[in-house]
Amino acid sequence: MKISDRLVTLTGAEGDGWDVFYRARTMVASGLPVTELTIGEHDIRTHPRILEEMHRAAMGGHTGYAMVPGVDALRDKVAARLTERTGVATGRNNILITPGGQAALFAAHAGVCDPGDRALYLDPYYATYPGTIRGVSAEAVAIETRAEDAFQPDPETIDAVATGAKSLLINTPNNPTGTVYSRATLEGIARVCQAHDLWLISDEVYDTQVWEGDHLSPRALPGMVDRTLVVGSMSKSHAMTGSRIGWIAGPEEMIYHLINLATHTTYGVPGYIQDAALFALDEGSWLEDEVSAPFQRRRALALDILKGQSTVRVIPAQGAMYLMLDIRATGLSGETFANRLLDRHHIAVMPGESFGRAAAGHVRVAMTVDDEAFATALETLVTFATEVTPHG
Ligand code: PMP
Repeated sequence: MKISDRLVTLTGAEGDGWDVFYRARTMVASGLPVTELTIGEHDIRTHPRILEEMHRAAMGGHTGYAMVPGVDALRDKVAARLTERTGVATGRNNILITPGGQAALFAAHAGVCDPGDRALYLDPYYATYPGTIRGVSAEAVAIETRAEDAFQPDPETIDAVATGAKSLLINTPNNPTGTVYSRATLEGIARVCQAHDLWLISDEVYDTQVWEGDHLSPRALPGMVDRTLVVGSMSKSHAMTGSRIGWIAGPEEMIYHLINLATHTTYGVPGYIQDAALFALDEGSWLEDEVSAPFQRRRALALDILKGQSTVRVIPAQGAMYLMLDIRATGLSGETFANRLLDRHHIAVMPGESFGRAAAGHVRVAMTVDDEAFATALETLVTFATEVTPHG
């Protein structure tokens, strides 16, 4: 039987730099000790108090179909959070609760793209972006950012390909680069969106992990509230990756239609998960701080280890749980470097090539193991890079 073109062409057009990740997993399965600095999964679990609340809600009977748009109290809470953090008046009808940020990314593109429409995204990119766009039968168009610009997008480069496009997807703080977009960058992007009548899909799932500068939501920029869809999630902020809980914030009319889409796709998010999420948000910042603190600490450790050598150059690491390291001085591709590091030292990092062309010659290090193991792995990586670099 024939499978739809949409599905069989969903992924695969990009490089398959995921070999290292799978090889590391195979090594672990065969009993070899591997320091895995690959995916964005915390080394701590969801806080027990959130789990207790989840249990209480489930035992209390919140196990039937929940409200498809999300329970009112949680929609109100997310709306209040966005109002407080961005200054943009946001109400319940601007919010759809989704099963994680990924479902929100998909719904957002379904909301703005018709089949064949051009949907722009920035390279390097989070692994699912092009497939998400193709999943709604739109054309995924990558726009490269440059290591030399610390991967800050250049509005002029976006402008040059924006004619006729429907949407632009951005992500700040950024996975995989750790870049936090500056106000000037975001204002430039806002100008391009307005000039070309683009929807802006703003993935802000790392908004609680900012180490340098400030997170600015482009929805708060003049003229942007009616053309911006914000993707949020509690995966990263509250170490709730497995709970699948996130949201889309946007104009009421769009949210109305996205609720209709949710009725025909996910049919909502489990009520006991939503209750636990509400509890977590009500707790305020201490929970978020507890989740983000290890990354901030390890980032400081890393900067200390990396100073005083010039073989491995770190991209500024302003936010999120990753370090993007420029290893071009070694003369190796990110993929070769990562494979050799894995074979020789049992340390797994992601080749930059897994995230697009713009991050070739880089590796992404997830700061997701305990401080001591992290520092040792990074020291080993630096020594390895120095050893393989041709001198003279
Ligand atoms: N956006 C980015 C940039 C991510 O890194 C991730 C997860 N790694 C997601 C969205 C999706 O996260 P979730 O579906 O768990 O909310």
